[in-house]
Amino acid sequence: LLEAVDLHKSFGPTPALDGAGLSVRAGEVVAVMGPSGSGKSTLLHCLAGILTPDRGTVRYRDVELSAMGDGPRSELRRSDFGFVFQFGQLVPELTCLENVALPLRLGSVKRRAAESRAREWLERLEVADVADKRPGETSGGQGQRVAVARALVTGPRVVFADEPTGALDSLNGERVMQLLVTAAKETNAAVVLVTHEARVAAYSDREVVVRDGRSREMEPVR
Ligand code: ATP
Ligand code: MG
Repeated sequence: LLEAVDLHKSFGPTPALDGAGLSVRAGEVVAVMGPSGSGKSTLLHCLAGILTPDRGTVRYRDVELSAMGDGPRSELRRSDFGFVFQFGQLVPELTCLENVALPLRLGSVKRRAAESRAREWLERLEVADVADKRPGETSGGQGQRVAVARALVTGPRVVFADEPTGALDSLNGERVMQLLVTAAKETNAAVVLVTHEARVAAYSDREVVVRDGRSREMEPVR
């Protein structure tokens, strides 16, 4: 579904990616692990078409992301990809319901329909009760569930999650992972999950380790 080959990316003199690659099939959950500063987030951003690599290719279905213009590429991100980051990055001025409805609204779904789908996702993520609150009025765990709902509401083909549970306690983190992986499997979406925690990586089908900007497939343990 999505494949990156031989990615190189530098910010200044030192390379952040130095020949990294990764591929993910529909419905597959891949965990990207490795030390801090090894290039995990940079790899994820290249895969998602947020960053353009200096060298190497990222292919999604039959399109090459770096060959696309900025407009079509952000349109593709909106229609086909979902994003969850360590700190939810919700819009503070909007209610949680409006935040989840936002990606649908940007895709020109009518308000009523968008909000009813948003409400269903808040229910699935067990946070229907915060629908009318603003993100600043929720707990960290609730906010992160809202962020997961927002990432999934459009029915993305690939979900990119960078330390989605990094700010949560272990119980909350595991529950959020369960909900995310279950929803992704149901819709046959792929998940690219960056995490430090082995406990979180345990929800993946496959692990890739990034070290010094290069990636390596782990032998399956199960
Ligand atoms: P962490 O686990 O701490 O999140 P990471 O594996 O995600 O680390 P990256 O964020 O990909 O690491 O960073 C890889 C390298 O690239 C680091 O040396 C970092 O300092 C550098 N880097 C990343 N983004 C930028 C940027 N926007 N400008 C300059 N340097 C950057
Ligand atoms: Mg990172």
